[in-house]
Amino acid sequence: MTLIDRSHPYVRAISPYQPGKPITEVAREIGIPVEGIIKLASNENPLGMSPKARKAVEGAIAGLQRYPDDYDLKHALAVHTGLPMEQIVLGNGSNDILDLIARVFLAPGSSAVCAQYAFAVYPLATMTTGAEIIVVPARDFGHDLDAMRAVLRPDTRLVWIANPNNPTGTLLPHQEVHDFIAALPPDVIVVLDEAYNEYLAPADRAFTGGWLAEFPNLLIIRTFSKIYGLAGLRIGYGIASAEIVGLMNRIRQPFNCNNLALAAAVAALEDYDFLAESFAVNQAGMTKITAALKRLGLDYIPPHGNFITFRLKDARGINEKLLQQGVIVRPLAGYGMPDWLRVTIGTEAENTRFLAALEEALIPNLF
Ligand SMILES: *Cc1c(COP(=O)(O)O)cnc(C)c1O
Repeated sequence: MTLIDRSHPYVRAISPYQPGKPITEVAREIGIPVEGIIKLASNENPLGMSPKARKAVEGAIAGLQRYPDDYDLKHALAVHTGLPMEQIVLGNGSNDILDLIARVFLAPGSSAVCAQYAFAVYPLATMTTGAEIIVVPARDFGHDLDAMRAVLRPDTRLVWIANPNNPTGTLLPHQEVHDFIAALPPDVIVVLDEAYNEYLAPADRAFTGGWLAEFPNLLIIRTFSKIYGLAGLRIGYGIASAEIVGLMNRIRQPFNCNNLALAAAVAALEDYDFLAESFAVNQAGMTKITAALKRLGLDYIPPHGNFITFRLKDARGINEKLLQQGVIVRPLAGYGMPDWLRVTIGTEAENTRFLAALEEALIPNLF
């Protein structure tokens, strides 16, 4: 009997999450300096972090001998959301919260539902607990809520929804999500992951936190990794009923969010200039890249986040050619979308460079 045989079979069945290629790895592989590489593979903020958050991090360095106190961030989020602090849970990245909610409600013998092409962490968080993940075929690359409702079983404890979804960028109308939750059994948890909420056009935004009074089974998740530009610090939050938050707090690591991340998040939350600039750069880049894809005759899924998912005849080959030119995007074969690539919207200069590299890669190889 090997150690592997001793491990839980449901752990052995998991394939590890595949992150976007780090710049340093590509630099080693193709032998060009890191400065020559642009990474548009992980939906990070191309403007970097908010200057106010940077200052806060610098200020917090002096207190690193102390364990963290998460009061200030919870308080700021309570003001931000209009909810009491008891309804806020912090995570070491929002992925931490996905993991917490899974561990509270899932176990061998139960199941969770997610959509085909939904964020890869949902099956992972589910399978980590030994529960079964039920994957429902997508409709137009997005969630098919009717089909998701139809597959619910008596052992189903949780439904995962990403709105907008990553990696497809699809957006469900908020009213449809609301009506879906209203029609679910009230003891099934709904996780509504809104990582890209701040990138939505104002007309597409809704304050779903207002639904919590109606739905004690709802957990809404937000992150500081995307528009706030703090992916490397690992900080996100969830809002839910005090009952759900209390349950997650029982199994949460006591100090799951570090001092630097907490300080940065408080500052970033209210850096409206940085948020407005990040939003504007994203909108401009989205317009530019979608126009170029159209001109090149390439299909893309209408985007609603800070990335665009587009189809190619030879996505693998084109991805290789982009890498050779020092441009990192995200292949989606692991998501069952082998003909698609996902590009994160970058700065104006990065977008220009990506499009030039793409055009170059599309030129047929004559020899
Ligand atoms: C990027 C992303 C997150 C954020 O994860 P963090 O752990 O907060 O960095 C969450 N959900 C989705 C769908 C994402 O794309």
